[in-house]
Amino acid sequence: MKHYLGAHMSASAGWAKMGQAAVDIGATTMAFFCRNPRGSRAKAVKPKDLAALRALLEAHQFGPLVAHAPYIMNPCSKDESIRALAERMLAEDLELMEHLPGNYYNFHPGSHVGQGLEVGIEQIAAMLDRVLRPEMATTVLLETMAGKGSEVGGRFEDLAAIIGRVAVKERIGVCLDTCHISDAGYPVREDLEGVLAEFDRVVGLSYLKALHINDSLNPPGSRKDRHAKIGQGTLGTGTFVQVITHPALERLPFILETPDDDKGHGEEIALLRSLCDGPDDAAGPVSGEDG
Ligand code: FE
Ligand code: FE
Ligand code: ZN
Repeated sequence: MKHYLGAHMSASAGWAKMGQAAVDIGATTMAFFCRNPRGSRAKAVKPKDLAALRALLEAHQFGPLVAHAPYIMNPCSKDESIRALAERMLAEDLELMEHLPGNYYNFHPGSHVGQGLEVGIEQIAAMLDRVLRPEMATTVLLETMAGKGSEVGGRFEDLAAIIGRVAVKERIGVCLDTCHISDAGYPVREDLEGVLAEFDRVVGLSYLKALHINDSLNPPGSRKDRHAKIGQGTLGTGTFVQVITHPALERLPFILETPDDDKGHGEEIALLRSLCDGPDDAAGPVSGEDG
């Protein structure tokens, strides 16, 4: 089976060029920012360029893409203007994503800084309720976080509480980051089955739509959030083989956010394909009399 593996790509040269760069490193999914990652200004929507990207993705049989919200987005800030900015960025980015229908848009739930977890969860859910529409072309994903500082999303319970309060549940899901959940204390290396069972019990596996596959520089429970290249951290290559080939996960998009350039990501993808994709059955099934 050819898994949907990819990396975070730069959109700075244009949409179709970003797609070609992903094809060139052997990717079949990818992540990207809809705008300058540090700025708040939306990119001009270029319908022709986006149409060229759609054609390219189809020609190369890509799986779902996983766009990433800007890091400055904090929908549970104490500051009302920062919450308003988060909502505006989400709405604008989802407008752009209408040109790439059927994909995902992932965001960090945010940091409640002194407001308390309950207030943070209320504010995140309220933003989603104001922006999400059942007819939208995109499903919005909450990312599992390392639990650094006052980050919301370090426990599966946080994500379940947000989802529980959102009305348009068909447009909401979760992106699981292996580095983050390990840093948050979930034993993904020692007990993947147990962690997935816990996720299923608390959130529901049907909400799990994508994964960020990152090794971690730190031991489980460190709450640090420092990514490492595959096989160069505390999770190790074997963990990723287990994750990618797990029957409950194997059809989902897997995104690398490891400290590497495109070439390095291509090497990581090639390594994971050699361990996870299995023999190439491009020749297809042998045709018999009954088909
Ligand atoms: Fe992220
Ligand atoms: Fe991530
Ligand atoms: Zn991270």
